Amino acid sequence: MPIDTRLTAVAVPGSRPLADYLAGLGGDTQPGPGPIVVPVQGAGSAGIDSCLGAPAAEVIARAEATGNAGDLTSVVIGPGGCPGPFLFLGLGDESPAAMRKAGAAVGRRVAPGRALVTSALHGKPAEAAHAFVVGLLLGSYRFALARDDAAPDDAAPNGTAPDGAAPDDTAPGEVRLLVAAPDEHADVLAAAGTVAGAVALARDLTNMPSGRKTPAWLADEAVAVAAGRGLTARVWDAGELAANGFGGLLAVGSGSARPPRLIELSYRPERWQRHVVLVGKGITFDSGGLSLKPSDGMKLMKTDMAGGAVVIAVMSALARLGIQSRVTGLVAAAENMPSGSALRPGDVITHFGGRTVEVLNTDAEGRLVLADALAYADAVLQPDAVVDIATLTGSVRVALGTQMAAMYASDERMARDLLAAAAVSGDALWRMPLVDDYRDALDSPVADLANIPHGERARAGSIDAALFLREFTGGRPWAHLDIAGAARSTSDDGENSKGATGYGTRLLLAWLAADDRAPLTTGNGAPLAAGDRAPLAAGDRAPTVPAGTPGSPSLA
Ligand SMILES: [Zn+2]
Repeated sequence: MPIDTRLTAVAVPGSRPLADYLAGLGGDTQPGPGPIVVPVQGAGSAGIDSCLGAPAAEVIARAEATGNAGDLTSVVIGPGGCPGPFLFLGLGDESPAAMRKAGAAVGRRVAPGRALVTSALHGKPAEAAHAFVVGLLLGSYRFALARDDAAPDDAAPNGTAPDGAAPDDTAPGEVRLLVAAPDEHADVLAAAGTVAGAVALARDLTNMPSGRKTPAWLADEAVAVAAGRGLTARVWDAGELAANGFGGLLAVGSGSARPPRLIELSYRPERWQRHVVLVGKGITFDSGGLSLKPSDGMKLMKTDMAGGAVVIAVMSALARLGIQSRVTGLVAAAENMPSGSALRPGDVITHFGGRTVEVLNTDAEGRLVLADALAYADAVLQPDAVVDIATLTGSVRVALGTQMAAMYASDERMARDLLAAAAVSGDALWRMPLVDDYRDALDSPVADLANIPHGERARAGSIDAALFLREFTGGRPWAHLDIAGAARSTSDDGENSKGATGYGTRLLLAWLAADDRAPLTTGNGAPLAAGDRAPLAAGDRAPTVPAGTPGSPSLA
């Protein structure tokens, strides 16, 4: 379900918007009384003392409202006050991060059929307003299965809702944002809505149970998204994958009755200067295959296509955000199951382009499907930059927890730009090293590479996976995002809701948007020096990557 919250901008000029708005209501609080959210910061001069029945400072002190970002405190209004309820909201230092947190707290209070009013955005800079609205919309996100989504494909051939089955108590909640002028923040609200909608799409796809979510289902969803968002779509079925040598996807999908797909979405604006390929891991369920996971480790494995969901979500927003780069999204979708036809440990498979891999563990399958897509991108699409995003290793969760993802990059400019995008977007990143000394451990006596290290060396699981992927990038500027920790949240926390977080959607959109602008600004609003930015490569030709470029991989 997309975000079901309606935003309405209400223009109230002047320095006391909330007081003027409440006076203008004249007791009319339709549609249904809802909370009035008052920022603690500036409440003393907001002119609402008579409405509160006491000076605002006194009410705030009595309720122990701290003003910390995201702190939301209900207060009791004395006799003679306005109809409420009133909530006091902390905006902290009003930085984008604080405004996101504050917005998320408000978003959680949005209730169906009720209208919440807040002056938190009034007169605020665009950056703060954008952060607040994204936080608000994501905080109001709820995942719900439609009745026809609850049953697996084969059990519900006629599983659509009967005609006239009205959505019962699901009238959208409304948030009335008081602004200084009718067009204040109009473009910000639209862009923030697009970004939040994309994150919600990633969450929806990721939260869908695997009984319904086959590789074919994911491809159908991607095609449906493409149709409405100015993208072209191509889906490679198992026959086409076999005919073209996508041995990694086929091997991983070979144990499942539900065959793999490669999904290719293309966005091509009129005058593009660089071509970016985004690659997402789309394992629609990961049992581990014959290297079977323990039961506990399987509970969340419907989300093992989170990277693929992010790629589809990012593609869905490009036209609306006016992104200037050409972008191709690839989702390598397969279901990893054990069966008589499954991939075996010790098997040797041949990837797109001919490189062979010895599979020592069938639960290290994400890198096998990604390798096909990366090799295809390099050989056929010939992009200027490649980013892959994947719930790839449990090791990264051990290293970084769930609040940030790991980034590996073969290119310094990409690394720096992605870190800058992380700072502005709220999707936090930490750069990890590609340790060349560890590469030898992936040597195989029977193939070009092994999918996990041979031997007893203490493993650097997330780094090993990144080193494996690098072998398939053809030396192009490339970054790998390991989101196995950040893709899932165990609780409602800030703008994350329990379950899928859609991590990476905001990051990649901010990265793509920033490359269209110069100079790029950092999270502190400090512009990077213009000289830091290399000129863009010209379109319509493959970039040449000089051998031995510092930071570029040495290929086996
Ligand atoms: Zn696995």
